[in-house]
This record gives sequence, C-alpha cells and structure tokens, in this order.
Amino acid sequence: MRSISIFGATGSIGESTFDLIMRGGGPEAYRTVALTGARNIPRLAQMARALNAELAVTAHEDCLPALRDALAGSGIECAAGANAIAEAADRPADWVMSAIVGAAGLVPGLRALRHGGTLALANKESLVTAGPLLLATAARYGATLLPVDSEHSAVFQALVGEDKSAVERVIITASGGPFRSFTMEQMQSITPAQAMKHPNWSMGQRISIDSASMFNKALELIETREFFGFDPDQIEVITHPQSIIHALVGFCDGGIMAHLGPADMRHAIGFALHWPHRGDVPVERLDLARLASLEFEAPDPVRFPALRLARDVMAMRGLSGAAFNAAKEIALDGFIAGDLSFLGMAEVVETTLSQLSRQNSLQIDATTLEDVLNMDHLARETAADAVKSWQQGR
Ligand code: NAD
Ligand code: MG
Repeated sequence: MRSISIFGATGSIGESTFDLIMRGGGPEAYRTVALTGARNIPRLAQMARALNAELAVTAHEDCLPALRDALAGSGIECAAGANAIAEAADRPADWVMSAIVGAAGLVPGLRALRHGGTLALANKESLVTAGPLLLATAARYGATLLPVDSEHSAVFQALVGEDKSAVERVIITASGGPFRSFTMEQMQSITPAQAMKHPNWSMGQRISIDSASMFNKALELIETREFFGFDPDQIEVITHPQSIIHALVGFCDGGIMAHLGPADMRHAIGFALHWPHRGDVPVERLDLARLASLEFEAPDPVRFPALRLARDVMAMRGLSGAAFNAAKEIALDGFIAGDLSFLGMAEVVETTLSQLSRQNSLQIDATTLEDVLNMDHLARETAADAVKSWQQGR
C-alpha cells in the first residue's frame, strides 16, 4: 500500500489532492501518514477521519484543543505548531504533497525529501526561496521532485523523452488575471476583493491576488529557471486569457510542443500522483470546436512590473529569490490589510530588493538553510519598513 502525506491539506491544492486520493480508493488504497492545516480544524479533522490518518497537525498552537476534541475517539494523533509540521515531514511517506502556501512550506519540503520518496511540489515559494538547496537535497537523498504548478507540470510533460539540450525556449502562459485590460488609472484603486476574483482558476486567496498582480507569474519564471535549469533568456511569458495552453517548449528544429488542458489543478496533481504512469483523472475534457479560438498577447511590463523584478532576481540569483519572495509576502499582507495599494506591492518589493542589494546582502550563494532563513527574515523586516514609508509618503 502506498503511503502519503499532504502538507496544506485544507487549502485549494490540498482539497484537490484529497479528492483524487478519495476517488482512488481512499484509506483502502492509501496509508495516510500525516495531514496538516491551519485554522480550519473541522475540515482537517474530517479529512483525517476519512483517510484514517496517523497524524493531523495544525500550524497554530491555540487550535490544538479544538483539534484534539474533533479527533476524540479516532485514535488519530494530533499536534500543533511549525515544529510539529516539520516533525510530521520526518515521518516517511512514499508520496508527499507540498501545498502549504508561502515560505512556510520550505522546511517541511526539505525534511520530507530526506526519505528519498516523491515530493509533489505545489509550493513554488520553496523553489524561489531556496531552489539550489531543494534540488541538492533531493539529489543527495535520491528523492524525486515533481512539479505541480500547472505550467511546470506542462513543461515537464512536454520534455518527457526529449533531449534537454535541444530545447531553445520555454514559454509559460499567464491568464492576465482580472485586470488584464485595466488602465493604469483604474489600477490605482483595486481592492483585495476585486483582486481575489480570478477569471479562470479557483485557488487560495493569496495566489489569486498574486495572479492578478502577476507576482505569481514572476514566481513561476524563477521556478522555471530553478526547476529545469534553463537560462533566463530562454524563458518567456505570454498572456493567454483562456488558460487552455499551460506552457510550450520550443526545440532547435523549430517545433513547439504545447500542453493543453482545462483549468483544473487535478490534472497536474494527478500527473504527479500517478507518475511515471498516467492514471484516470476526472477533469473536464476539452471541446476544441466550442473553444474555437485561443488568444495570445505580450504582457504589459509597465502595468505589471513583477515580471521585470523576477528577471532581476534571475540575473542576480544568490539570496535574491529568498528576498523577493519574503518581500512579496509582506507586500501582499499589506495589501490585504489595506495598508498598501495594489500597485504599491511592486514598489515595496523593488525598494526591498534595491536596499538589500546596495548592502551587498543578496549576491551571496545560499548554501545552507540558515542563510536562506536569515535572508527571509531580513527581507521581511526591510519590506515591513518599506510598507511604513510607503504609507507615510502618501
Ligand atoms: P490555500 O491558501 O488555499 O491553502 C494553503 C494551505 O496551507 C492550507 O492548508 C493552510 O491551512 C496552510 N497554511 C497556511 N499558512 C500556513 C502556515 N504558516 N504554516 C502551515 N500551513 C499553513 O493555498 P493554495 O491555493 O492551495 O496554494 C498552496 C500552494 O500551492 C501555494 O504555494 C501556491 O502558490 C501553490 N499553487 C496553488 C495553485 C492553486 O490552484 N491553488 C496552483 C499552483 C500552485
Ligand atoms: Mg501556475
């Protein structure tokens, strides 16, 4: 029986993963080692009971009594806090879904890799923050790292059986989000509620807003660079409002392999779950005649500066990815809290990167987790100051 764990089980990716596991036989087909969540205790307990998990962990200590109550009589162990989540990752499982949102997913992912199993990586922030460390850890322990981000799963699939040295370019698509055709003027007053409404995908709150600002695509540019090792100038972004093509890989003979599918993350999750085979996944099948046309346009670098910032990070490497992600997380918190405007998010990230770069803090190659976590911390402080200065400058 295959053993699994899901980190971030109660989120959007976690729910889709749970759905596939239940459809695939649930506790009869899989032995569930650990499920983790944050404040949605009823749902975490329900999932743990349905899969007869060995352990359920909440990120928050104050939620532990509620989790204990909800699991009373089930025999399922429970625990709380960031350390408990990392310890849950120390329990071996054949297949682990990394679907915590933000840099909080890094440590559990690194710890899970040490068992040499498969880590299905939805948590792109860990590759942006510590790509070389993650890849080196996977190689060291003989673990398999599989992409779950739809674009990266698409690139991975387009590369099966191909010689990587024959790749000329990789193109990842972006929907353009809800503000694709907004004017700069209209973009001044965007609210979090507007930014959360993604036109094509149903996702967690944070990634939905990141999609609207194109910070999600910026993270994905860096993710492509880190995961596949292509040069930054080989990686392109194209806006494709229908979100049907997820990525394209162009080869030296001029041919391009495109990956198409409906906007349903269960495809990419299912691919990672069944890899190296293909399993049945209950996503809608495309009706091309009904789709009729697929549109493309170049993303606007002026209204969406996040992509330019990602290019700077890819050129700089070192600890700049860790700083970029941390600053983005603080800017996003600021926007959600109403302390920062939509366009202010990119300003805060840019200010943070240039301040840290002037101090020569970014150009250092991160070799240890400690280096990365120190930079994550420093960038969060620097970005929080930048949010305050932004407010004062209004
Ligand atoms: P979500 O907000 O819906 O869920 C996040 C999960 O992480 C929840 O289970 C939550 O309880 C948990 N969590 C939140 N903060 C935590 C913390 N500090 N410590 C431990 N656990 C915490 O997010 P999501 O949309 O499912 O995204 C999860 C990850 O997958 C993100 O890295 C995102 O970028 C990536 N991703 C998501 C999608 C998508 O369609 N939702 C697509 C591609 C990639
Ligand atoms: Mg994506």
